[in-house]
Amino acid sequence: MNTDDRRVVVLPCSGIGKVFGALARETAYEVVEHVRPGVTELTCLPLLVVEDAEALALVKGNPVITIDGCQKECAKKSLEAQGAQAARHLQAIDFYKAHKELKPEGVAELDDTGRKLAALAAADIGALVDECLAQEGVPC
Ligand code: SF4
Repeated sequence: MNTDDRRVVVLPCSGIGKVFGALARETAYEVVEHVRPGVTELTCLPLLVVEDAEALALVKGNPVITIDGCQKECAKKSLEAQGAQAARHLQAIDFYKAHKELKPEGVAELDDTGRKLAALAAADIGALVDECLAQEGVPC
């Protein structure tokens, strides 16, 4: 159990117009709301882009797991542009590659299959969160 106020930040890309972007967002919500509530925190990618002081302090003071929806890697690159590194970098398409029976559909909103895939991916990410919390340092 986390004994201090350290958090693992989950940073999905904005993923507008792409199913794997929607999957990245939905997976991030699952992690923070259901899989590891209380020890994880979301932040919003545009806040980093506009150099919001609170968002910058959050990602520089805690391990960050980025989830990107395509090879442009907007979440990872936006983090790096602010001088921080992802503790773990994930591609949403890899969630599908690990569960080929669950082909997600939907752009603005995932379908039921996509939500099931997000829940499975989030459960796996929970283990990464635990690893980060068990280690010292940023990134973990
Ligand atoms: S990584 Fe790809 S899907 Fe995500 S915001 Fe960037 S361009 Fe869009």
